[in-house]
Amino acid sequence: MILAFYKTQRNNSEVFYYFCTPKYNVMYDKRFMLEAIALSRKCLEGGKGGPFGAVVVKDGKIVGRGSNCVTIHNDPTAHAEVMAIREACRNLNTFQLTGCEIYSSCEPCPMCLGAIYWARPDRIYYAASKNDAADAGFDDTFIYKEIDIAPAQRTIPATQFDREEALPTFQAWKASEQKIDY
Ligand SMILES: [Zn+2]
Repeated sequence: MILAFYKTQRNNSEVFYYFCTPKYNVMYDKRFMLEAIALSRKCLEGGKGGPFGAVVVKDGKIVGRGSNCVTIHNDPTAHAEVMAIREACRNLNTFQLTGCEIYSSCEPCPMCLGAIYWARPDRIYYAASKNDAADAGFDDTFIYKEIDIAPAQRTIPATQFDREEALPTFQAWKASEQKIDY
């Protein structure tokens, strides 16, 4: 159910809508999603990487833009959401995106979801779903499924060794008075 339905005009012709629903307490602004989708389109047409775009919004303004740069940067972590988070954090001079929202042209993959949780924005809006991405050949639903499998049984097996060698660093961190929590 839509509680409030706001209309706004830009460039005298385009009409955009804000939604506020009681269920999710959402203030969605379509302009920002269209910008994320435009970035995904530019990515495709410019041959930069996969067709993905994202923007970070704070107080009704875009503070970071990102598009997929995996192939052009030779960087498998250069997904749109990660690039947008990096730019927003640079612009805001912070490592936490509290009070921000992320608009992504596609449901975040597990890596981006992790990055988003570390960045701590208030909310994520996405357009295409992870199933749509899988249908286009970007099968991150596969990675989502891997998370539930025991580490040693995964497609890329993860095996623990030498825990006791690593623990003193954690103890030193806990005791440190200079640490910056995040
Ligand atoms: Zn991603």
